This record gives sequence, structure tokens and C-alpha cells, in this order.
Amino acid sequence: MAEPSFFEDRPTEECGVFGIYAPGLDVARLSFFALFALQHRGQESAGIATSDGVVAYSHKGMGLVSQVFTEENLSPLVGHLAVGHTRYSTTGSSHIRNAQPYLIETLDGPLGVAFNGNLTNALELRNQLLQRGVGLMTTTDTELIVQLLASPPGATPQQTARPNGNGRGSDPWVARIRRLMEVIDGAYSLALLTRHAIYAVRDTHGLRPLCLGRLAEGYAIASESCALNTIGGKYVREIEPGEILRIDSQGLTSSEGLPPKKKALCSFEFVYFARPDSMLDGQVVHTVRQEMGRKLAEEAPAEADVVVAVPDSSVPAAIGYGQQMGLPYSEGLTKNRYIGRTFIQPDNHLRQQGVRLKFNALGSNLRGKRVVLVDDSIVRGNTSGPIVQLIREAGATEVHLRISSPPVRHPCFMGVDMATYKELIAHKLDVPAICERIGADSLDYLSLEGMLEAIRATTGLHDAHCTACFSGNYPLDIPSWLFDSDQAKMMLGQVWGT
Ligand code: SF4
Repeated sequence: MAEPSFFEDRPTEECGVFGIYAPGLDVARLSFFALFALQHRGQESAGIATSDGVVAYSHKGMGLVSQVFTEENLSPLVGHLAVGHTRYSTTGSSHIRNAQPYLIETLDGPLGVAFNGNLTNALELRNQLLQRGVGLMTTTDTELIVQLLASPPGATPQQTARPNGNGRGSDPWVARIRRLMEVIDGAYSLALLTRHAIYAVRDTHGLRPLCLGRLAEGYAIASESCALNTIGGKYVREIEPGEILRIDSQGLTSSEGLPPKKKALCSFEFVYFARPDSMLDGQVVHTVRQEMGRKLAEEAPAEADVVVAVPDSSVPAAIGYGQQMGLPYSEGLTKNRYIGRTFIQPDNHLRQQGVRLKFNALGSNLRGKRVVLVDDSIVRGNTSGPIVQLIREAGATEVHLRISSPPVRHPCFMGVDMATYKELIAHKLDVPAICERIGADSLDYLSLEGMLEAIRATTGLHDAHCTACFSGNYPLDIPSWLFDSDQAKMMLGQVWGT
């Protein structure tokens, strides 16, 4: 797995996936701008695969979307359908061979796969494939999915229905996808490209987000609706848990891959991952975050003069906190939005500057004031203390830290690089001890009930979200060895070569 960023104390976004069916439009260019909108979900690599109904094309590379694509490498990506991907590695090392989409040739034509999630039975699947004589070239769950789709378990090529000339007739891909869903466990949102169609596929709990949008000419699917808006699309709906949605010349064809289970969309999407302008569960994320801030103020009021946020993701919650308390919200920290995106690591001298590389305090808004500092989460606890110190040095007389999510006490095995038990500060220390470590005048978190109530009040959905990293209640069966970080590292190291 990738090293945690020096600049961040956040779980790391998983990946962004995108797919488009739009005859007559430049689908590669639209995919580029959609991936640009999904950049926050992964900055290690990016890629696009297209199909013109005969041949499939692809380009991918390491780095940001804007670094990977140029006019020269985008223009050969012709066709009327495409899938795209931005990647952060949850399994598999940071290497070009792990970049997505994967594009291979199968008996039924080209197959492109863009995947967001994590397979909890990857070890078992890997061994099964190797025993069947399938050679694997990479260290990712995505390659397992590609191979399982290319050769469905138990199926021989003769058993696989053949498509007719326009790709309709009996659809071999729905059957293949269903058989894939029967053998993989875990969290997944998939955008698949075949010769004539794109497919959106979501796990039976709907753990990772995936939505459908309408374009003037066609449809698109994306991890977040902000990607649809960027290219002039309109949000239509979420892909349902367990659904397989085919998009082609006939329009939309929905079928059940597996019966849906209890819905469990990742609640951390609302807390931090998703862009505030994205729509999740039918609600704009900014609205949900603001409600979390209001609930936090109800549960943990502080005597103060001003509310400031750790930018950017905590701003809506800080606004909500201020509104509920009747306190002014003000900018207290300015963030360099690009520092976390650099691959150049600071040297020792710069390391001593710590969070100053990323944040600068606005003294004029803080001097002589009692400050409520709102942050969305604390994971390892390595940056909160220096940020509180920065606010004090800028002249604040008191700093009361308020966190708009519950303490993160458990790792994530559903596609988020959350940190291990050993690294999670709230697993090791109680709230008063964390407050002392951070050096704040007071510290309070939003309760689990408060967070779920904020989600319910804004989306209308109750008991439909994963809270495992807060509560320890996992919506999936997690193999016991994954809970032991040393054993997991050893197993992952052997298998995934990290
Ligand atoms: S454990 Fe946390 S980060 Fe992982 S899916 Fe559940 S809510 Fe999201």
C-alpha cells in the first residue's frame, strides 16, 4: 500500500470511475474532463479506454489527469463509448502496470475494466486463478476481475453465448458479470467497456458510490455526480446495489446481478471523500456536512467568538456549527491546495515546518479571539496538534477543536486506505488523552448517532450506511487475518508485492 502523505491526516480516497456512451460526441475528451472532476479520488494514475464498435483504444499513465493526457495522446482515442479511471492504490503498488482501465481482448471482443473498491477474498481468487493456469501480471484486485470476466469460472468458451453483429441478441457480458458477482466478495463499483456497450455494476451493499447521468446524446456513469455536471450531464439516479446496467444503442437495460442486501453506502463519503457539490443518496453532500456541523454544535457547544474550519472539506460543517451556535464563521487558515498533490517529498529542514507547508494562519481573523476549530476527522492525529499550535501562534486566546464525525477506531477493508489499528489514535487513546496530545483547550467529536441523524435528516435514509471505521460493525464478513495488521502486511506483501 502507498505511504500515508506527509501533508495529510486523512483516509485516502479510493478511486474514481467513469463511463460514457455518446454517439457523435468526443467521448475521450469528455472522459478527460470527467476524470478531472474526479481527481480528488485518486492522484497516482489515470487512464481512458474507448471503443468505436470495432476496435478499442486506450491510454494511461502515472500522475494527475492533466499530466497523463495531451492533445496528442487523446486524439487517437476515437469511438462512441469510453471508460476512465483515476487511481489511488489500496492494493498493489504505485506502478504503471497497475494503472487502469485494464483493456484486454476476449472471445467476445475487447473488455475494459475500471474498478473502485476492495475484494475481501482476493487471496482465495488469486490462488484459484493461478491453479487454473491463469498467469497474472499485476498486483491488483482489478486484474482478478478482468480474468474472471474473460473466463467465467466453470464456463467453457462453447458454453458462452455469442453476440450478433450489433452486440445485442443474447448478451454474453451480463452472464459473465453475474458469474463474477457470484464469486467476488467485497466492495466494488465497476465501469466496464465492451465493443458495443458500457456497463455499470455495483456490489450488493452499494458500499462505493456510482451514479447515472443523462447527456444530450447518450448517458454517462460516474463515481460522483460532479463528473456528470462537468460535462453538461444531469444526475438521474444511483446505480442500485447488486444492479447491472447496460448502456448501448438501445438505451438503458437494467438487470439484477445479485439480489440486493442491506444498503451500506460508505458514510465517510459524506464526511470527507466526496466533493461537496456531488449528490449522494439524492442529497448534495455540502448540505449533509452542514447538518453534521449543526448536530455537532448541539452536542458539543463551546464558548467562543469565532468558528473556523480546517479547509477545504471541513468548511460546510464549520458553517453549520456557526449557524447553530449563532457565531460568525470566518476564514482562519489558508490552504495550499496543490501541496498534497506533489510527488516531491520535503527534506528534513522542510519537514520541521510541518503543516506550515500546507496551511497559513490568517492572524487578523484570529488575534485575541476564542476560536472553535472544526475539522472533519482525525485519523492518525499527526497534524491536529500542529494546526492548533498554528492558530495559537496567530494570536487565538483559546482553541476548541470540534470534529464533525465520530472517532475513527477501526480500519477499513472496503476500498479505503484508512490506517491500521496500531496507527489510529482513537483506537489507542480516549478523547481527553487525544485532547492533551493535541494541545487544544477542549476536544469533542460528533457522536455516531449524531452523524447518522444528520444523514437521515438530509437524505431521508435510515440505517443504510456503513459506519465500520467508527463503530466496528462491518457490513461484510471480513477474514480474521486482515484484522491483524502484521499478518495482513505479510500476506499482502507476499501476494501483492507491496
Ligand atoms: S469502514 Fe469507514 S471508510 Fe470504509 S466503507 Fe465503511 S464508512 Fe467508509
